[in-house]
Amino acid sequence: MHLSPKALVTGGAGFLGSHLCRRLLADGYDVTALDNLFTGTKANIADLLDHPRFSFVLHDVTQPFWGQYDEIYNLACPASPIHYQKNPVETTKSSVLGILNVLDLALKTKARVLHTSTSEVYGDPLVHPQVETYWGNVNTIGVRSCYDEGKRVAETLCADYRRAYGVDVRMVRIFNTYGPNMHPKDGRVISNFIMQALGNHDITLFGDGSQTRSFQYCDDLIEAFRRYMSLDRATVDAFFARHKLGAAVINTGNPGEYTIRELAEETLRQLPESTSKMVYAPMPQDDPKRRKPDIALAKELLGWEPKIPLREGLAKTIDYFRKMSGK
Ligand code: NAD
Ligand code: UDP
Repeated sequence: MHLSPKALVTGGAGFLGSHLCRRLLADGYDVTALDNLFTGTKANIADLLDHPRFSFVLHDVTQPFWGQYDEIYNLACPASPIHYQKNPVETTKSSVLGILNVLDLALKTKARVLHTSTSEVYGDPLVHPQVETYWGNVNTIGVRSCYDEGKRVAETLCADYRRAYGVDVRMVRIFNTYGPNMHPKDGRVISNFIMQALGNHDITLFGDGSQTRSFQYCDDLIEAFRRYMSLDRATVDAFFARHKLGAAVINTGNPGEYTIRELAEETLRQLPESTSKMVYAPMPQDDPKRRKPDIALAKELLGWEPKIPLREGLAKTIDYFRKMSGK
């Protein structure tokens, strides 16, 4: 009898986790989504609950868990500034205790791990675009630190479990990613702007809107996850040894760089019926001024680059929010 490979997705009811679960099912995996539903919702996976190869486990990653999986994808952690700042201590715990529990499970069961890190490990970067060898410019005691430093410690744990114990763990530093299944009140810029424009409310530009971000559509990221996890270990080890990187870490993002004002303008261009006006609000503390990934490593290792430009991804995302909000 043919047995399906088994995958665990922590944070599987979240925005990215729900897309990943769908993709793994399509690729023939037996998928378990583990989530405490802090920012995720069962609505994101409602259509999967009856799937014969899917199961959902309500659990907090800060508590140990057990299961025999071939691959573990660690996504559990609140990701938007308003959510991760709501309970900052829990945010750091989700990152640090969460990855510890994943790595301990992988050590015992020999599972392969993909850990989702973030461009926030670069903080307010002094190197542009950001390369994996850049160590970052991060405040340890600011309002974003619970997330940034939690993710940095998680990277350290991944690097040490790999070096010291031989765990096959691979890390992806994700740059701003968007798409359907984002929570409408998530607070991140793309969901905020679309929901504001659909509701004819003011579009809130923080600061003067000149800060930049690079926006990656979710499907491009999930493709990178799958390519990375399908490589055999020897290929991954040889690649990072050749590049003299201490751990298996790559950036994934779309290098197209936009100011937040340009994003607001494009959103309004795609919703010409909206009567929303742009307004300016105070800049949050430690908000990075510029962000753009260097994706040369991902290109070389995975033969991958993002395919969906902002205009197209935004249209798909607007379509999703329009349908889900009945507007
Ligand atoms: P999300 O908030 O939609 O998903 C996170 C999921 O983790 C949610 O379903 C939430 O309920 C769950 N979760 C949170 N704490 C948990 C805990 N202690 N135990 C179990 N489940 C928990 O956000 P997302 O955008 O899908 O992010 C997924 C991962 O990718 C996160 O780790 C995030 O840091 C990382 N990431 C995302 C982006 C992005 O732009 N979307 C950028 C960089 C990194
Ligand atoms: N932002 C904004 N208006 C909003 C939400 C966010 O101008 O309603 C800005 C925010 O200050 C930041 C950028 O958009 O400069 C991206 O914010 P987001 O929270 O999406 O992600 P992150 O700051 O983590 O990159």
